[in-house]
Amino acid sequence: MIPLLYIYGIFLIPCLKLFILLSDKNRKISSPHTDSMNNIHEFIPLYPMHLYPLVAKSLALTFIEKNIDKIADKIEGGITELAIGEGSFSKKIFSKRNISIFGLDLNPYSLIHTKNCKHISKSIVADCTNPPLAYCGASLILSNNFLHHVNNKEYCLNNWSKISAYAIFNENTNYWASGWLIPYLLKTIGLPRAAKKIANKIAERGLQALWTHEQLKAAVEKYFEFIEEKSFLNERVFFLCSICSFLLLCYGPPTPKFPKAILKSSLLWPITKFMTFNMAKTLIEYDALLPRNNDVFIYWTVKSKAIQKIIVLKEAILACPHCHETIEDNKCPACNNIFEERDGMLFLLPRELVDKISYCEDKKTILEREHL
Ligand SMILES: [Zn+2]
Repeated sequence: MIPLLYIYGIFLIPCLKLFILLSDKNRKISSPHTDSMNNIHEFIPLYPMHLYPLVAKSLALTFIEKNIDKIADKIEGGITELAIGEGSFSKKIFSKRNISIFGLDLNPYSLIHTKNCKHISKSIVADCTNPPLAYCGASLILSNNFLHHVNNKEYCLNNWSKISAYAIFNENTNYWASGWLIPYLLKTIGLPRAAKKIANKIAERGLQALWTHEQLKAAVEKYFEFIEEKSFLNERVFFLCSICSFLLLCYGPPTPKFPKAILKSSLLWPITKFMTFNMAKTLIEYDALLPRNNDVFIYWTVKSKAIQKIIVLKEAILACPHCHETIEDNKCPACNNIFEERDGMLFLLPRELVDKISYCEDKKTILEREHL
């Protein structure tokens, strides 16, 4: 399959270049597309010839960095990242800034890796749909690639809106499922029912609760005012990226170990870097020219409707997951629950999750350092 990846790139780049050349030259290309190309190199070692996560994260990083800058003068500390995973993407956002944040995730085996991230001052095992933070307990909530896994989105958005005046987060639309290779081809040859059936299975396998752009926007609008909305990766571009995923035999962001090792071998690495960069750059240029109504990813910067007054915080305020009282020294003064710290992580779990989320220090390296 490896040679096919290079052959695909050799055909893809000139075809897209020709389309770009013939397209309307007066059409204005805006951020995040213009600036995201500077981020491509950062992601190539993690996603060699793996265009879907590489292009998506290059665009996302531009949006997030610009939007944090936009509200930076209104906040001091208290930034909290929900569903931070192992912190590798978070590190790219915050490592250039002199900021320390709180990182929350339900999976301690992912979160344990955030211990190596200098920008994370506290790692907390928690339910990110109802984070254990006080009312107005954070100045900014950031969440990447999380809400599309949540079925009860409104419950989650409502809880987030009570914690922080500002939030930056994203969603995947229904085109995330229909843009994959097989359903896209079935739809193109006039078999929409078969395409839908396979797209539903892909969404189920990816644990994705996918809504349309309009449905998502309406849900967000109930709890937040929009400061900025950007969408990217038209379904067609996602399909072109998914051909690489198909050849790498994967569906999600992690690049499979074996092809990754071959693509990064000393002999192939210069070719891999060259091809990956040029494929990603051309796909971003192409995506910038397409209509935005079939986009796969949407990013928002929003202001909570529940919090009017902006409170400047040094750091986020943690609350008991049972009674929502502010905790002191890992203890809730209201219900007297004591929350344990293990391996540098604070476990702030609600009763219904305490028994479901286990952590064994002997298995702490069960997940790789960069697995998302
Ligand atoms: Zn309590």
